[in-house]
Formats: sequence, structure tokens, C-alpha cells
Amino acid sequence: MHIVVVGGGVVGMTTAYELNRRGHAVTVLERHSVAGNETSKANAAQRSYGVVYPWADPAIVFKAIPWILKPDGPLKLRFPPSVETLKFMFATLRYAWSPGLFGLNRRAMLRLGIHSRERFLALEQELDLSFDGDHRGLLHLASTREALGNYRVTHSLLNELGIPSRLLTPEQVREAEPGMVGNGPLYGALSYDTDGTGDCHQFSRALAKACETKGVTVRYNVEAEKLIADGQQVSAITLRTDDGIMETLEADAFVISAGCWSNHLVQPLGLELPIYPVKGYSLTVPMIDPKRGPTSTIHDDNYKVVSTRLGNRLRATGFVELADFNRDIPEARLATIRKSVESRFPGCADLDAAETWTGFRPMTPDGPAIIGRGPRDNLYLNTGHGTFGWTLSAGSADVIAQVIEGEEPAICLDAFRPGRFSE
Ligand SMILES: Cc1cc2nc3c(=O)[nH]c(=O)nc-3n(C[C@H](O)[C@H](O)[C@H](O)COP(=O)(O)OP(=O)(O)OC[C@H]3O[C@@H](n4cnc5c(N)ncnc54)[C@H](O)[C@@H]3O)c2cc1C
Repeated sequence: MHIVVVGGGVVGMTTAYELNRRGHAVTVLERHSVAGNETSKANAAQRSYGVVYPWADPAIVFKAIPWILKPDGPLKLRFPPSVETLKFMFATLRYAWSPGLFGLNRRAMLRLGIHSRERFLALEQELDLSFDGDHRGLLHLASTREALGNYRVTHSLLNELGIPSRLLTPEQVREAEPGMVGNGPLYGALSYDTDGTGDCHQFSRALAKACETKGVTVRYNVEAEKLIADGQQVSAITLRTDDGIMETLEADAFVISAGCWSNHLVQPLGLELPIYPVKGYSLTVPMIDPKRGPTSTIHDDNYKVVSTRLGNRLRATGFVELADFNRDIPEARLATIRKSVESRFPGCADLDAAETWTGFRPMTPDGPAIIGRGPRDNLYLNTGHGTFGWTLSAGSADVIAQVIEGEEPAICLDAFRPGRFSE
């Protein structure tokens, strides 16, 4: 089959790779001049297979207002909120208060996480990609006794699903992270031993090149505009090149992996994808002394900031902000991220010299991504991966390829079904 994939982020590129591996002719449409240039660009770089959880978390609902009001709080809301923001917030509340839903969705996401890890390992064996990738574990620091208590519950769930993890004392944390000599509060940590890291942007670009070598056509600087449906089938897609020329591209099947920009392509065919751009920020900087930085990746629950080693660089990331597609980078957000890093890894990098970035998590109001057949027989969706698209990309690419080929997917996809928002 000839399959068009819309979107050259990490999800679109892994999807293209899996489809090419199965012998399909694949064309990727990407409006930027390189792959992975939107949300996949400078994220927290964690491949956190054991951490994945749904956005609509009932435990967070009552913490949300204090978090918004606290200057250093991890959640921010732009005032006055837009209609889209309010719709997203109310939908989130509805899912958070649906009895049992969070637990079911979390397990579904963790199963996809386990599968994604397997697929990443296979992909890294097959292709020699350079992206500062590693699987040296991930630490969630506990800066309060309460946090440590919550990690005990998570530890039992991970045991039940066969995901390796350990509860660490503060001494064991310092042994694992000798550069962590800062004065941030520390009661222990949960170690996700088989999780990993990697530069998602470098990976997406390297994978795009590898795919092209294997025969995938990646068309950059083209905007996919409209799917043309003919009864129960999509027959073609219209696209506009950067010099304004319109084209119509026919194919046997279409996959939408356009992240935050997926809805306007699918909605005219009768399916609403309520994906909201949840903003975050990052700093990336070469380390002055790598021995004083993290050995892998840590989540500092004090500020909800993630610090990750990427080779000799440090990537520090934080904030969940509801501000629509606003791309401003306020100094106050960067100051909080810097404060977190300094409280754990003082002097490891000149944070004032860091490259700054903001991006939008393509979030569904419940949390699981949207993976499956869309509103036409040959239209497929692999989008809406929210906080965990880098982590889940390799696994979701494999399962959408299985769906396209009419195989039983490796994991149950009920939690990810595209039609769930109108049920
Ligand atoms: C601050 C922050 C930290 C994060 N940290 C992590 C992390 O540590 N681990 C993790 O797993 N995930 C993390 N994420 C989430 C992760 O980055 C995303 O889930 C993932 O990048 C989504 O990939 P994507 O390919 O779906 O979307 P994108 O990377 O946004 O790709 C979509 C692509 O589609 C293209 N496109 C859209 N519309 C069209 C069109 N009409 N025509 C042509 N091209 C189009 C866009 O240009 C874009 O390149 C983080 C996100 C943020 C913001």
C-alpha cells in the first residue's frame, strides 16, 4: 500500500519507519524544513516507560488551585482563559471524576510503555542512530514524607505489572547521583531502573534520514490542508508547498500524526479530536563539569522540574501551562527551572547561558493518546500523546501499523480509541 503520514514529529517518523519495515510505500508530509521541530524538539528527553500516567488525575484536582497561585507552582493558567481552555479544563474534570477511569487508563498506558521499550530496543539494534540515547534509569525524588508514601503505592503497581523499580534511601540516591550535592529536601526516591533518556529532536531527524535511505519519501515545507473523502474512504489529501503551489496526493491509506494540529484535518470528516496544547519550557546547556550533573534523569518533585543528561549537555524542563498557542518564554518560568537545578546540582552548568525553548504537549482531556482507525475505513490516527509522546512513540507506531494491517494489536487499545470523546 501507499500510505501518507501527516506530521514529521517523533510519532509520525516512528510510524513511517514501522510501515516501511512492513513493506509499505510511505510518504511523510511535514511543514517544517526538518523533522521533530515542534513538540518533539527540546522536551525533557525522558523515555519514561514506567512513569506514564493519564492527565486527568483525580489526586491533582484539589492541588491545582494552590499550584496555580504559588509563584513557583508547576501549574500555570493564562488569564483570562480562552473558551478552548475552559472547555479543556471542564472535560478534564469530567474524566478525573469518572470512577475508576484513572486506574484503567494508567494501566493501559503502562502496557504501551512496556511495549514501547521493547520496540525502542529493537529499533536501536536495527538502526545505528546518534541521539545521546541511554537506558540508565530514572529517579523520582521525594522532597516530602508524603511523596515517599505515594511512591510506595506506585512501587506496588509497578511490581504487579512486572516493571522493575526500587525505593531508595537518601544515601542510596546520593550514591546513584554523586553530583547531587545541593540542599534541596530529600526523603528518598523511586528508581525506575529500566527507563531511559535521549534527545528526541536528534532521534527524529536521524530516523527521518534512515527512513529516506530505506525508501520513505519525506516531503518537508508542505502543509497538509484537507483530506478528500469519497464515501467510506479517503482518496487523497490536498497540500500546499511553501511557494504556495497546491497539490493533490492520492494514497491507499492515511495516518494523522500532526500532534496539536491534528483536529482540523479530521474534524470535517465528523470526528472531533479535543487535543489541547499544554505548554512547557526547557533549558539546554553544555555542562561545565559533567561530574557535577545528573548521571541520567531525575524528576525533582519539589519544583516538578526534570533534569536530564544528554551526553555532556544538561536539559532541564518544567511547567504545565494552559495558555493556548502562546509562545512567550517569561523569565519567571526560567528562574524556577534554574532554581530547581541549582538546589540539586549546583554549579554543573552556566544556566544563564542556556538555550531556551517552549513547546506544546498535544494533550487529550483524559490523557491516553488517540490510536486507531478514524472516521473513514482507510484513515488512521496516532496522535494526542500529551506528556509522553517521546516515550510511547516506538510502541504506538508498532500498534498502529498492526491495526492498519488488520492484525491483533500487541496491546489492548480500548483506552486509546478515537471515538471515546463523543461517547
Ligand atoms: C516541556 C515538555 C516536556 C516534555 N517531556 C517529555 C518527556 O520527557 N518524555 C516524553 O515522552 N514526552 C515528553 N513531552 C511530550 C512529547 O514531546 C510529545 O508528546 C511528542 O513530541 C509529540 O510528538 P508528535 O510527533 O505527536 O508531535 P510533534 O512533535 O508536534 O509533531 C507533529 C508534527 O506535525 C507537523 N504538522 C502539523 N500539522 C501539519 C500539517 N497540516 N501539514 C504538515 N505538517 C504538519 C508539525 O510541524 C510537527 O512537526 C514533553 C513535552 C513538552 C512540551
